[in-house]
Formats: sequence, C-alpha cells, structure tokens
Amino acid sequence: MDSRAVLRRAMRIARRLGLCLLLFIAVLAGATTIAVWVSGDDEFAYSMPQTLINDVTQMNPTYVARVVEPTSIDDVVSALRASSGPVSIGGGRFSQGGQVSYPDSLHLDMRKLNRVVNLDVEHKRITVESGITWRKIQSVIDPHDLSIRIMQTYSNFTVGGSLSVNVHGRYIGEGPLVRSVESIKLVLADGSVVAASTTQNAELFYGAIGGYGGLGVIVEATLNLTDNARIERQTSVMPVSEYRDFFARNIRDNRNVVFHNADLYPPDFTTGRQVSWYKTDKPLTIEDRTIAEQAKYTWQPRLAGWVAGSDTGKWMRQHVIEPIYYLEDRVAWRNWEASYDVAELEPASREEQTYGLREYFIPVARFDEFVPLMREIFTKHDANIINVSVRHALPDPGTVLAWAKGEVFAFVVYYRQGRTPEEIARVRAWSLEMIDAATALGGAYYLPYQVFESPEQFHAAFPRDAEYFALKARVDPENRFRNRLWQQLYPANLDTLEAKRRASADYYRAEAQSVLTVPEWYLVFNPVEYAQYLAAGRNPSEFPFFASIDEYWTLYDRVTAISRGSQYPKNGEYLTMLRVIGVSTTAEYLLKGSYEGSIGRLTRWAANDEDTEEDRMYAKAQDAYAQFIFNEAWYEFDFTGWVGALWSDVSLFGDHFLRKIERRLFFTLEFGTKAGYAKLIGFASRATYGIKAERIYMTVIAPEDSAALPPGIEQIESDGRSRIVSTLRWGPFTELTPQLAAAGYQFRDVSGNRRIVVSVVGPASEEPPLIGATELFESRMVSDPTRQRHVLLVETGQLAAFLRDLRMSSVTLEHIYDY
Ligand SMILES: Cc1cc2nc3c(=O)[nH]c(=O)nc-3n(C[C@H](O)[C@H](O)[C@H](O)COP(=O)(O)OP(=O)(O)OC[C@H]3O[C@@H](n4cnc5c(N)ncnc54)[C@H](O)[C@@H]3O)c2cc1C
Repeated sequence: MDSRAVLRRAMRIARRLGLCLLLFIAVLAGATTIAVWVSGDDEFAYSMPQTLINDVTQMNPTYVARVVEPTSIDDVVSALRASSGPVSIGGGRFSQGGQVSYPDSLHLDMRKLNRVVNLDVEHKRITVESGITWRKIQSVIDPHDLSIRIMQTYSNFTVGGSLSVNVHGRYIGEGPLVRSVESIKLVLADGSVVAASTTQNAELFYGAIGGYGGLGVIVEATLNLTDNARIERQTSVMPVSEYRDFFARNIRDNRNVVFHNADLYPPDFTTGRQVSWYKTDKPLTIEDRTIAEQAKYTWQPRLAGWVAGSDTGKWMRQHVIEPIYYLEDRVAWRNWEASYDVAELEPASREEQTYGLREYFIPVARFDEFVPLMREIFTKHDANIINVSVRHALPDPGTVLAWAKGEVFAFVVYYRQGRTPEEIARVRAWSLEMIDAATALGGAYYLPYQVFESPEQFHAAFPRDAEYFALKARVDPENRFRNRLWQQLYPANLDTLEAKRRASADYYRAEAQSVLTVPEWYLVFNPVEYAQYLAAGRNPSEFPFFASIDEYWTLYDRVTAISRGSQYPKNGEYLTMLRVIGVSTTAEYLLKGSYEGSIGRLTRWAANDEDTEEDRMYAKAQDAYAQFIFNEAWYEFDFTGWVGALWSDVSLFGDHFLRKIERRLFFTLEFGTKAGYAKLIGFASRATYGIKAERIYMTVIAPEDSAALPPGIEQIESDGRSRIVSTLRWGPFTELTPQLAAAGYQFRDVSGNRRIVVSVVGPASEEPPLIGATELFESRMVSDPTRQRHVLLVETGQLAAFLRDLRMSSVTLEHIYDY
C-alpha cells in the first residue's frame, strides 16, 4: 500500500469530517497493529490466468489470450498462420487509448523484432525490423554522423508503432513520418509477406502508415536518414497573437532551423515561448553525442507534478523557472536533442493521477481562430492543462488517414487527470469539444490517445475513412487485426448492442473490483453467521469474534496478493477503504469479544445459560441487520429504532434480572454507538463516493425457445438472441443470475467482463464443482468448522453451466461479486 495515498485519503476524510473523526480513527488505528498480528503472515501467491496488457497511462488494462514475442518475420507469419481469431499488435505501448490491445486476442509484442537489417551510409538510408526503438537506431547511426530524419520528441518509441501512427516531431521543413519512409514490409492476416512503397502496393503503403495496425503487421521499414549537426538553441517570449507572423517570417522557410516549437502557457494561453534550434559552428556546451539510456530522472517528474498541482506552480514555471532555465546558452548535437527519454516525464505513481496527451491539427491560416476556442473549452471544463506545445507540419503526401490534410500547426496538449469516473468524464467532455472545434476549422485530431470520439467525429476529421475500411475489408476479411480504436470506429465492429453498451455510462466495470470486494462482503456474511448463531440459541459469549477478525485480514491479504500478482491496475482508494473498515471492525470485535468473554459470560452463567427476552430481541435485531446489509449500506440501518423497541416492547422485569439489565445496557451501548458512527460514515461515504449506481448490466444469449426473462430482470436491448439486460445489484443480482441460468440463458459478459468472482459454501469434506471455474482460495466458517467457503473465479461464458451444476451438489451459492 502506498503510504502517501493512505495519508492523502486520510487528510481528505479528515477535512470532510473534522478533527473528531480523525481522533476516532487514530484510536481505531491501535487496532490495526492487533489486526495485522492476528492476520498471520502465511505467504499467499496466486497468479491469474491470461496476460494483462496496459499502456503508459495505466488506464487501459486488457486481458489477452496469449502473447507472442516474434524475433523474426517467420515468427510473425507462423503466429498468424497457426491461429485464428483476433490479433492485437504492440510496440512501445506509448499510445494511450488501448490501441495496442484487444480482449482475448493473440497479442504480438514486437519489441524483440529489433535488428538493423542494413545501414547504407552513402545513401543515408537504413532498413530496420519494426520493433526497434529510435534510440537503438541512434546508437547505430551516430558513429557515422547520421541522424533520423523524422521522429517524435522522445526516442523510446518503436519504428512499427511510430509508422502505424504516422508520427511527427519538432522538425522544420518536415511533417508526418511517412515523408521519410522509402518502403515497408507487411505481414497480412493470411500470413503473406508483402512489400509496399509509393510505387509498389501503394494502397497498402498509404493505408498501413497511419493505419493503427488494422491492415497487417509492419515487420520491416527502410527510412531516410540525414546528417547529424551541431545546433544552437534560441528562444524568446511573445504574445500568442504575434506567433503566426513570427513563424512565417523567421522559421518556416529558414533552412538553418532544425527543431522548433512554441509552448503556450496555461491557464490563459495568451503568452508563448518559442524555442528554436539553429545549425551552428559554435563550440558545444553539451559534449555528449546522445543522452544516456537508463538515466535517472528525479526533479523533472516532480516539477511537472508541482506545475500540474496548482495555478501557483503554473505561474512559477512561466515567470521564474523557465526564464532561469533558458538563460543558459546551449549548443548540442542534433542526435542529443533527439534522444530524450520519456522516463523524464514518468511520475512516481499513476495510481490516483495520470498524465495524458491529446493533439489537434489546425490549418496554419486558422491558428488565431483556434486559440480562443481552445482557451474557452479548457476554462469551461476546468481542465488541468500543463502545457500546450505548438509544432508545424507540411502536408501529408497521401496516407489514407492523414492528419496533415494541408499545412498545419499541431497543438500538443499535455494534461493531468484523476482516474475516477467523474474525472474521465470531464476529460472526455473537453476532448470531444476540442475535436469539434478542430474539425470545424478544417483540421483533425490525433488518434493514438484516449478513444472517446464517435464514428461521425472520426469521419469529419478523416474524410477518407471509408477508403481505409474498404481496404481493411479486402486484406483482413475476417477482421483479425483489432484494437480498442478500431473497436470504436470500424463499422464491422459496431453491432447495435456494442453501441448501446458504450452509451451506458454504467455498463462497464473493472474486473479487479469483483476480487477486491470479497473482504467487504465478508462483513456481510460474518454478521449473517452471527445472526444464525444467535437464532439457534447458542451462547453469545462463545461466538468466535477473534477468529472473525483473523478471517477478515486473511481475506484482505488474499485479495491484495491476487491484485498484485495479476497486475490488476492498482486501486489505492479501495484498499484504503478496506483497511478503514477492517480497522473499525477489528476494534469493534476486540471490544465485543473481550466483553462477551468476561462480563457477558458471567451474566450468562448467572442466568443458567438461558436466553432472556433481551437476548431474543438482540438476536432478532442482528438478524434484521444481517438481512438489511445484503442490499443496503450498513450505515443506513435503523440502529436507534431497535434500541427504542427494546425499551418500549420488552419488560424490565422477569427472570434473570442481572442478565436482563446487563443485556439491555449492552444492546443500548452497542447500537447507540453504531448509530452515531453510522451517521459520520454515511456522510463521509456520500461525500467521497457519491451515490453508487444501483443496477448492473450484462449481455446474455437467450435460449433457442427465447424463454421469458425472470421477473426483476429488465431487457435494455436485443439483437437476435443477444440481449443486454440489467438487475438491481448485490442481493437481487446473486438471486436472479441463477434463475437466468436455469431458464437456459448463457452469459456473454457481466459489466463487460469475462470473469467474475463467486463464493460457495458447503460441507468441509466436499469440493465444489469447478466447471469453468478456478479456486482463488478457501475461507473459514468461523462458527462451524464442518462447513467451508470457497472463493472461485468463474468464466462468464461458463457461468450458466457452473450455476446449473451447483444446483446438483450439496454446495450452495453464497454470493456473486458484482464488481
Ligand atoms: C510522452 C509521449 C510523448 C509523445 N510525443 C509525441 C510526439 O512528439 N510526436 C508524435 O507524433 N507522437 C508523440 N507521442 C505519441 C506516440 O508517438 C505514439 O503513441 C506512438 O504510437 C508510440 O509508439 P509505440 O512504439 O509506443 O507504439 P504503440 O503504442 O505500441 O502502438 C501504436 C499503434 O501502432 C500499432 N503497431 C505497433 N507496432 C506495430 C507494427 N509493427 N505493425 C503494425 N502496427 C503496429 C499498434 O497496434 C497501435 O495501434 C507521444 C506519446 C507519449 C506517451
């Protein structure tokens, strides 16, 4: 657990609840030590099946079926020929919207296909395998005084990923990467290897470059190089309104300028700093020919975090830090300036906040119109923009999905965002408005970033999309090459249900939640166990409170180990919440267990081990509580109502007076305290998490005879036998899902997930059925050693068979954990 996340969370809660609750939590924290001690230290390691692919933002975790790491073109051919079904392709994985992955696909990780095939120094040309990075090419060509002609600002990207995006850099007199490509070699879906250039298979050349891996696997490329050169940095600050004129007069046609960009300062974007690098003969101020690989960066990410953190940070950057930074004269090699490492941007953690890029391409003549539109959109949505860097590109020579339809300025937006659904929705809102603003001016937007746009917006920006889709249908007729970008935009992927699923903000939920909620649900099942124990008239002093504490923390350990082992995206907030409820339950059970084991045991003995009216009332209240918390948050329970009923409905007088009085006070104190605590927690939960969505959605396949849906399940949409349905969450979901299975329905996915956690309880001597399921771990029934809980991970495609099988066995369904 990241201790800073815990601290931040504690501070947020403290601010909301005031010092009182913080003190209360501090007292409870004492219980943590005991809880950790009780939880034991048995090592638990579990690795989840399948492999998780993610990208640099950590926002697009996707399970693929298998990963292949080709080291030769033949490996790529064999992988495609030996398989059927979807294929996704990954290079450096620096795209930010799932462009490298697709669920259950065969994933080609291209990074080991990375040799230099031929270096032709005389003709300044290099042929490379596509998984090679720019940085590796630089190491090979620098000794020959050669440089890459066009690439991005940073050097970690692969050539294949860069070609598929058709990237650009800060070069003057250049533009999209395609301008420096002589030819490429592709492996198509059927395993055939084809060469493509402007004169050979030109359609494929112009389709695959900028084609986001939708047409085939780029395995080789021949690229133009240029001379390395000494370059000198010059910079000046100016009103943004003067920039276009400055650029036209001083930069655009100046053959001495190698790199150029202008940073527009947030939040106003009225002032900009142009930074240009000119060829020079002056002595070097930086002797290194390239930037060292694997260098450590400490202050740069922190500085970016600080600038992102406040308006003061942004003001300091513009008025203090950069003026000092740019005071220094700088003369370096072109290869040095082109070998930046993205590590200099990488924050210590992306758990709560992540950094992203977006980019908009505006015709040069419309620059001044776009800036105020951009300012207005960012201000309206209170977007946390760290920088907008303006670059220039000459027109694209003919790629089908060209972003430089003419001469353009690229507005590269670097921003920070939280990872909550609200924050994602906010970024989505401003991103979509920016796309509309750019396309209204005849521009376009960049496709390697988070994918929010509609097919209509895509078409407005990339009017030759139909040409690309027709080519894809021809060379990839089975639609094997997939990723999240094409899932959103390729018409063949847009079944009516998918559009509906995406339109519902509540449809998709993270699979990790199904695992992480297990300890939270234990705090429902343990009270059920307690209520059943009391209802059976058993001695309350004997209930294993301490074993219950142990069980909670064991479950906590299990799910955090799984979450780590399976590389689920970290969810610090949720783990903090599990700790908070774990600590308060530990405190409660410690108090209750100690009390029941001493004073409670004494008065029970004095009452001849018999229940009083107060005992029975308490058992009823516990039963009501156990039933209530199945579907409602515990803090909504009517604790005070039960105390009132005790004092009004149960007579003070009767047998076993000592026990009666003691139980009455115990009941009142426990429920009274909980009523107060519930008010505080209820307020904090609503303030922090908002009101949770109460329905859960899934896609099911109806049986041939199209059986009616069980009452309580609502149909949202249907397409043939596929249906999107929804139920109330929690208790009703667990109750109605087996009914759907019994009626013959199959489950395609639940909340977009292909796996879900299920717990079952049965005789300790019996194993549960494991059709389509793997056991994650076992869990004790603390009051009944003859019974055992099993926590299983079930494939949703097998869920119906699993539930039907369960009905035949003596093991019963306890809960389906609905994320
Ligand atoms: C910090 C940062 C700075 C950036 N700066 C710039 C910049 O200055 N200029 C710019 O233009 N962009 C920039 N980008 C965007 C970047 O260029 C793209 O994300 C690019 O795709 C990264 O290359 P990659 O190797 O990581 O590709 P990946 O992200 O791995 O892949 C990108 C796409 O290419 C496909 N693909 C990968 N390899 C192949 C292959 N061999 N055959 C077929 N398809 C393949 C993938 O399926 C995917 O659709 C930046 C991104 C980051 C994170």
